[in-house]
Order: sequence, then C-alpha cells, then structure tokens
Amino acid sequence: MDKCRASFRFYAELNDFLPQAQRKRQIEQVFEPPVPVRHLIETLGIPHTEVEVVLVNGESVDLECPVQDGDQVSVYPMFESLDISPVLKIRQSPLRNPRFLADAHLGKLAHLLRMLGFDTLYFNDAGDRHLAGLSADQGRVLLTRDKALLMRRRVMHGCFIRSTEPRRQLHQVLCRMDLLHTLRPFSRCMECNSPLQSVAKDRVIEKLPIGVARHYNAFWRCTGCARVYWKGHHYRAMQDWIAGLQGELKAT
Ligand SMILES: [Zn+2]
Repeated sequence: MDKCRASFRFYAELNDFLPQAQRKRQIEQVFEPPVPVRHLIETLGIPHTEVEVVLVNGESVDLECPVQDGDQVSVYPMFESLDISPVLKIRQSPLRNPRFLADAHLGKLAHLLRMLGFDTLYFNDAGDRHLAGLSADQGRVLLTRDKALLMRRRVMHGCFIRSTEPRRQLHQVLCRMDLLHTLRPFSRCMECNSPLQSVAKDRVIEKLPIGVARHYNAFWRCTGCARVYWKGHHYRAMQDWIAGLQGELKAT
C-alpha cells in the first residue's frame, strides 16, 4: 500500500499539546490508509476529548471519518468562539447538568465541584481502565491531567486539566462547560458526593458542638454519610469565594 499524506492545522489552545515547532502551522502526516481522523489527531498528541469540530477540505466530519491522500484537515477545540454555527459539531448533544469523574490526582478539584453542587465521583485508587469505563457507562465528564487516559476510545466526554492549582482547575472546568448559571452551592456533601437535605435541629442536636447548637438553627444532613452541615464561620468565606469566581467568569 502506498503511503498517503494529509495536512493538519490545529487552532487555538489545541496548539498547547504540540511541540513548539509544530504550533500554528501546517503539519504533514504520512499514513497508510484506512485511518480514521481521530487516530491521526491523537498520534500528534491531542486527546479526542479536546476536539469539538473537524473540517476535512472544509466539510465537517466526525472523528471516525477516514482520511484520504491530500486531505486538508482543520481541528478546532471545545467552545472556541469562532463562527462555526453551520458546522456540525462532533458531539451533537451537549451535556446538560454535567456529572464528573475526577482521577486520583484531582481530589481537591472534586471537593470544590461538590461544594458548588456538581455530582462528582472521585477515587484515589481506580485504574485507567476502570475510570474510562465508568465515565462511558455513566456519561460522566472525565477530568484528568493524563492525556493517555483521555485518548482511550471509550472516553466520550473528558477534559484535560491544564493547571496544577485547584482554583484554576475549577475555573477551567466552569468556563469550558459554561456552568456559571448552574452553581448550587451547599447542596451536596463534599465528603461523599451525596445530596444534602435540610433537617430539624432537634434531629441532629446530639451531634453538634455546644457552640454550634447555641448559635445556629438551620441544618442540613448528608443523605449518604449523615454528616451535618450548618452555615458556620466558613460559610461567609465560601460565599465570598464563589462570588469572586462568578465575577471572574463574567469578566472572561
Ligand atoms: Zn456525605
């Protein structure tokens, strides 16, 4: 079989995955057909979860489209603000009320997402295969800094986390998924991810420190682990933190 050649061009932050010499320029790929466009994109180091639109010779295609000799391929990231409205996106139905699955290195991010009310699973001992399967089976967005994990075929929705700092990580997830208006702080247990339910004071009073029982009257209890929450001295700090984040996102 003769070798074929195709030309790739990556846009916006997809260039961050490329070596410096390949950024923002045509990249020629030599291959033996048949090869789906997904494979050639990932060969260059870009997980398919980071790609929103692929154009081959100006026509939008899905990731399984076979690449032909001489094709010109343009690859766009998730939520890049270009006028691509007539173009079919790879994922036809955006995730509503997204649920997340954080890998073992993103425990702090998982807690922050739970704090804002997002259903977020987190295991500190799950292998890549298990994470990929769980993400696919439950339709969860897989959050990771591991490119190879996102390149697993079963992973449909994922997000490569760029920063190592939890607050910046959270900022990235909220921006990319456009979640500014769906925050529901204090509706989910930060420890076990179960929903919180309001509970009468007299039902939990025996579990409360004396000062808390004296000063607070509204309580919530985790439906999973029974941990009790109240709007204590951390509450205002958390509210300020969330308000600051919303201000940052509006300014983005
Ligand atoms: Zn809990």
